[in-house]
Amino acid sequence: MFRKRYRKVIKIQMSKLIRSKSSRKLEVELLPSTVKSKSLFQIYNKKRRLDEWKEIKDELLRREGNKCWICGKKSIHLHVSEFWDFDDKNRIMILTEIHHVCDMCHKIKRTDFWFFTDYGKEQLKQLGLSNEDFIKHYCKVNKCKLKDFGKNWRKAIDTWKERSRFDWQQDYGEFISIH
Ligand SMILES: [Zn+2]
Repeated sequence: MFRKRYRKVIKIQMSKLIRSKSSRKLEVELLPSTVKSKSLFQIYNKKRRLDEWKEIKDELLRREGNKCWICGKKSIHLHVSEFWDFDDKNRIMILTEIHHVCDMCHKIKRTDFWFFTDYGKEQLKQLGLSNEDFIKHYCKVNKCKLKDFGKNWRKAIDTWKERSRFDWQQDYGEFISIH
């Protein structure tokens, strides 16, 4: 009984979180340094509900195909990317959408990890990726110039610094009510 209800909630939730057929510009979306973010995968993994996690992945594949939701690149290695909104007044970050995105778009969204942590920097080195590779992909996807990246980057850093001064509550939308 519970399981049946749970699945129903998942379906409703999925339709809210996955908006297919729309494309979005690639943005640098830095999470405040005070947030120890738990990804949806980590939550499902911890609750030993990986079969439900597989359902989410399958649903994403059905709706978005094996393409990156942001840049459209076909790939068999797509990441489930979380899109957060920030309620700066109440310091709550809210999970609003999830999508399949390619490796580069995924990395650029979370540039804080790759540029600012020792582990991230080391990983990039091992992968043979440079800052220029990130910027090139960003400009290609957004059809913009280097100075546009610079503008977005500086804005993202300013916002990140301001938000990193505070603790944040994480709201996983309706996902939280089923856990
Ligand atoms: Zn992409």
